[in-house]
Amino acid sequence: MVDVHCHLNFNAFKDDYDEVIKRAFEVGVTKIINVGLAKHKKVVAIGEIGMDYFRYKSNEIVDPKLQKEVFIKQIELAHRLKKPLQIHNRHAGKDIIDILLNHKSYLLNPPGMFHCMSGDLAFLKKVLELGFYVGFDGNITYKGLAPGEDTALEDLVRATPLDRIVLETDSPYLSPMPFRGQRNEPKNVIIVGKFISEIKGVSAELVEQQTTQNTQFLFNL
Ligand SMILES: [Zn+2]
Repeated sequence: MVDVHCHLNFNAFKDDYDEVIKRAFEVGVTKIINVGLAKHKKVVAIGEIGMDYFRYKSNEIVDPKLQKEVFIKQIELAHRLKKPLQIHNRHAGKDIIDILLNHKSYLLNPPGMFHCMSGDLAFLKKVLELGFYVGFDGNITYKGLAPGEDTALEDLVRATPLDRIVLETDSPYLSPMPFRGQRNEPKNVIIVGKFISEIKGVSAELVEQQTTQNTQFLFNL
């Protein structure tokens, strides 16, 4: 099983990131993809890139025009480096899809993944039609809708074919239940996989096998 998106370089892990990685490998995680810098030979994707129109308490800056310009530059960079995209979207799905459609010739096959999926079913459909994979995190175990959302994450899981799903933790954020509120770790990607198997009514082994295969194909591992 692979955690395709986390931030082990954040302060939350400054004292024990090696222990955290060890713990993940002990419970069966085989690879961890961390968000970092673009020129290193170990880099497998360009991300997280994308757009975010949510007004965070810590950040009043939304500026869609600037975000669009930067996003396009990031797509061009990924094209130059021949790397798939790892896209962050919050409340900006329509503009992201428009930009991707306008830059279709820049996309690889497969083009990449949407990290920490949210949005509605129509948006998901467009994401899948463009060939993207879909990342799910521990927040699929939370009850109720996130602010500004109208579609349950469980419904998005149900509507995404297993051969297009990849698993992630977004550590240190989004700990799955029953650990919500605590620091998240890549080992919890196993819990995300189990929850997906329950939603889809298939075995945890099948989810592990298929999502690992998806990850290897997408990131050329
Ligand atoms: Zn992240």
